Amino acid sequence: MTTAFISHEDCGLHNMGPEHPEAPVRLLAIRKVLEKTGLIEELDQHQSVHVTAEQVKLAHAELHQKRLEMKLPEQGIFWADEDTALCPDSLHAASLAAGSGILAVNRVLEGKARNAFCSVRPPGHHAEHNIPMGFCFYNNIAIAAIHALQQPGIERVAIVDFDVHHGNGTVDIFKDRPEVLVCSSFQHPFYPERYSEITRDHIINCPMEAHSGSLVFRNLVEGKWLPAIQAHKPDMIFISAGFDAHHEDPMADIKLDEEDYRWVTSLLADSARTYSQNRIVSMLEGGYNPVSLAFSVQAHLEVLAGY
Ligand SMILES: [Zn+2]
Repeated sequence: MTTAFISHEDCGLHNMGPEHPEAPVRLLAIRKVLEKTGLIEELDQHQSVHVTAEQVKLAHAELHQKRLEMKLPEQGIFWADEDTALCPDSLHAASLAAGSGILAVNRVLEGKARNAFCSVRPPGHHAEHNIPMGFCFYNNIAIAAIHALQQPGIERVAIVDFDVHHGNGTVDIFKDRPEVLVCSSFQHPFYPERYSEITRDHIINCPMEAHSGSLVFRNLVEGKWLPAIQAHKPDMIFISAGFDAHHEDPMADIKLDEEDYRWVTSLLADSARTYSQNRIVSMLEGGYNPVSLAFSVQAHLEVLAGY
């Protein structure tokens, strides 16, 4: 069985301006590397589908989508917060990004793919129940995880987030849902400084000081994440796959590289084999140096695809 690769060229229509790091070139760089190495041919490629209004409400407030639609400009850019902007096509792209997670869950649960990676933007893990923030409008991974929990045989899931920023939106949405284990590593102190101090048995926050590298990251994964996953026994594992903790990424000061992403993906694949019938759905979050992003995604996908 193969790895599903879900993406859509219209994700590139979301454009927050020439200076913004969360830019269309990110997905183009990923595709270019996957084509050059031939890896793309080994994947089960699918076009993203749109999320429905009902599916958005799985993770968000009743009026969240309507409020975003009211902010959508007919031309130019509307700033939803100081670093999150809407252009006329932004919600079209956001809908495809969120819908990709639903399609990924369905492919995996129907047994058509062993696991899935969604190469999509805008990202999602900063979007809280009630607010867009940090380049994110819909919390793609949260919508996908709740959709999975509605399917027969899926009672507990784990969301693992190795983006360099804390996935505050995901914690906000699941803080009172202990059937969803949320493990994250992030630079601290650093953006967004929401929920980084929360204490819940099912929220495993692993802050890392600036300039931390591979050793600190690997010790946290082995010491905190793996025992939590072992105790939780998730029926499915979700990955908020942000690659901005790479040492070449301009956004932050953590010093990981492609081999760290290969390593953590291997451990998560082992956990999925043991507890989750190999089921993994991974969704792109951050990663702002197109070159290191593309090579990191390649390493992540090589493991998911069983190389
Ligand atoms: Zn990030």
